[in-house]
Amino acid sequence: MGTDPKHRADCARSFSISTGLGASCRSRGRLSGVRIARYTAGGEPRYGIVQGEKDAERVMEISGDPLFTGVSATGISHALADVRLLAPVIPRSKVVGIGANYAAHVEEMGGEVPATPIIFLKPNTSVCGPGDPIVLPPWSGEVQHEAELAIVLSRLCKDVPPERAEEVILGYTVANDVSARDAQRAEPQWVRAKGFDTACPLGPWIETELDTSCAPVRCWVDGELRQDGTTADMVRGVSDLVAFVSSCFTLLPGDVILTGTPAGVGPLDVGNEVSCEVGGIGMLSNPVVRR
Ligand code: MG
Repeated sequence: MGTDPKHRADCARSFSISTGLGASCRSRGRLSGVRIARYTAGGEPRYGIVQGEKDAERVMEISGDPLFTGVSATGISHALADVRLLAPVIPRSKVVGIGANYAAHVEEMGGEVPATPIIFLKPNTSVCGPGDPIVLPPWSGEVQHEAELAIVLSRLCKDVPPERAEEVILGYTVANDVSARDAQRAEPQWVRAKGFDTACPLGPWIETELDTSCAPVRCWVDGELRQDGTTADMVRGVSDLVAFVSSCFTLLPGDVILTGTPAGVGPLDVGNEVSCEVGGIGMLSNPVVRR
């Protein structure tokens, strides 16, 4: 797009962005190439940067909010093993789900890849974090896992062209788009099937740099590999999804887009441990309970 001032002005008109901060503030303390975690060390939730080798990681506490302010290191750190990770983001407005974005999954569900992406909402009350129990709702007897790459938005935006999608993405995390399949089949609106409490585990953290063109997407239930896909098989990639979703809704900082699930979805039962992984991000594990 170059640096031509007129072109930039045209882009600004067609692609409205505001964070409530000036451009200089947005760049100050901007996080890139890091893993942003939300955690508790026994007190209030904090943000931190996860660093170090696998199984020896540490969380470096940061002050501020990666979505709304600049951030800075506080000098406090913890062993990752000593903190409890929380959902890395609690969307203030919405989680947007994309259905039927992997052809093999569409086939296993007995449908066809739609000409227009299938889109649905999960309320922010459905979000839970790593290790939190997925609570099977009493009205469903057929709850399934869906491992997915999740996009975390950084800025208020609308009508984002695909070539500028990167500018509105804070990073990526792992999602389990937990779905009550019986309710999904029975009702034209998927809001109950996909929006019940704990139906949206997110974590373990936000990875700000990821090659989304070919990231493995996997799911295990009690150690059995159920889903083994790759984002290379997405019908529509990250940039096109941001463009499409932002043509439907104004997106806010902290909104999340779930990019669809590969083939291999299957049942979750009481006592299961379900683990979803996106290569380059990490693993999100949750026990399954019924209350
Ligand atoms: Mg899904």
